[in-house]
Amino acid sequence: MLTAIVGINWGDEGKGRMVDLLSQEYQVVARYQGGNNAGHTIYVEGEKFVLNLLPSGILRPSVTNILGPGMVIDIAHLRGEMERLAARGVKLSPENLRISGKAAICLPAHVRQDCLEEERLAGEKYGSTRRGIAPIYGDKYMKKALRMEDLLEPQRLERRLRQLLEWKNLLLERGYGAPGEDYDETLRWLRENGAPLRPYICDTGVYLEKAIAAGKDVLFEAQLGALRDIDYGIYPFTSSSTTLAAYAPIGAGIPGRKLERTIGVMKAYSTCVGEGPFTCELFGEQAEALREAGGEYGAATGRPRRVGPFDVPASRYGVRMQGADQLALTKLDVLSFLPEIPVCTQYTVDGVSTQDFPSGGSLERARPVVERLPGWGCDISSCRRWEELPAAARRYVEYLEEAVRCPIGYVSVGADRDAYIQR
Ligand code: GDP
Repeated sequence: MLTAIVGINWGDEGKGRMVDLLSQEYQVVARYQGGNNAGHTIYVEGEKFVLNLLPSGILRPSVTNILGPGMVIDIAHLRGEMERLAARGVKLSPENLRISGKAAICLPAHVRQDCLEEERLAGEKYGSTRRGIAPIYGDKYMKKALRMEDLLEPQRLERRLRQLLEWKNLLLERGYGAPGEDYDETLRWLRENGAPLRPYICDTGVYLEKAIAAGKDVLFEAQLGALRDIDYGIYPFTSSSTTLAAYAPIGAGIPGRKLERTIGVMKAYSTCVGEGPFTCELFGEQAEALREAGGEYGAATGRPRRVGPFDVPASRYGVRMQGADQLALTKLDVLSFLPEIPVCTQYTVDGVSTQDFPSGGSLERARPVVERLPGWGCDISSCRRWEELPAAARRYVEYLEEAVRCPIGYVSVGADRDAYIQR
C-alpha cells in the first residue's frame, strides 16, 4: 500500500503524531518535500521528540526512513538532529535512514539570503522561518543548487560550489551590499557536515522500487499543509515546495507510482504561523485562551501561532487539493474548555457569500461568517472509543465531516501515541 499523510490546513495539524501512529503498519516512511522549516512534535511514552528533517518513522526501529529528492537539506541541521537522537538511544544506520543523492543542499548562504530579504522587505515581509528554504528552492530551479550526491564526489563538489558562490556573491555583495560567502569556509562546512552523512546517501528510487516489489508498505509524510502549497496555497505566503499528496511519489523518488490512499490531517480549529491572509483569525482574549489551550507555539521557531475557529471553506479546499480519501481530526480535546464552539462556515467577499476558497486579492478581502455549535464542557482526553465521546463532541465531528465532504476515520484527543479514537 502506498499511502500519503498530508496536511489539510496551514500546517501544524499534528501530521507527525499521525505518521508516528500509523507508521506501525508501514515498513517505510518517506519525506518528499520541504526542509527544516517546520517541526513535528511526537510524544512517545511521555518523552518529547521534535523532528525537523527526519521522517517521523525514525522513532520506530523497524521502519526504514527516506529523505527524498524533493527535499532541501541543511546538512549541519540534519547532522545535529541525528546526533541528538542517537544520544537519546534512537537507532540510526544506513539501513533505516536513506538520503536521496538528488536532494538539494541548503547552505549558510541560503540562510543569509533569506534573512537579508526578510529584512529588506521589513513591513511587507513574508514571515519566512529564515531557514533558507525559498533561496535554495529558487537556486534549484535556477539549476545552481548543490545536491547530496555531490558530497560523494569531492572534485565535482568543489567545481559546483565555485560556480554557485560566484553567482550567489553577485547578489549578496552587489545586490544587498552584504559580505559575500567565502569559498574555503563553505567548502569546510560542506566537508565537515557532509562526512558523517555520506554513508546514508543513495538512490532512494531504486530502494523504494525494490521495497515495493518485495511487498513493503510505504507511508509518505508531508510537511506543512495544502494552504502552504507553492501553486495552490495562499501565494505568496506559501512554502516554496509542493505540499500536496500528488507530488509524494515524485518527491520521494518513484514518479511513476500512484498513491493508493491519502489521509488528510485536519485540526479541530485553525492555526497559522507567519504572515498572510488568515480569514478566520481570532484576536485578544479569545485568541489567547485558544492558543494557551492548544499550546500553539511553533515547533521549529517557538513563534506564537495565529489561531481561529475551524474554517470550512479553507478546509474543504484543502481536502479537495489533497484528494483525501479519509481524514484524521486532531486536537479535539483542546476545544473542551469552550461552552460554544465557533465555526467559520463561509466567507463574504465584496458582499457576496461563498463557500469556495478564494485566491489573491479576493482572499485578502474575504470576511468570515461564524456560527456556533454546542460545546461538551468536559475533559475528553481519556476517551478511546467513539461512543465514549459526549454527544456534542460527536456532533461536532459529524458536522465537520459533512462540511468538508470527507469521512473522519481517526479522532485524536491528546498528544500521546494512544490518545486517539478510530471510528
Ligand atoms: P505537525 O507539524 O503537523 O506534526 O504539527 P506540530 O507538531 O507542529 O503540532 C502538533 C502539536 O500538537 C504537537 O505538539 C503534538 O504533540 C500536539 N498534538 C497532536 N495531536 C494532538 C491532540 O489530539 N491533542 C493535543 N492536545 N495535542 C496534540
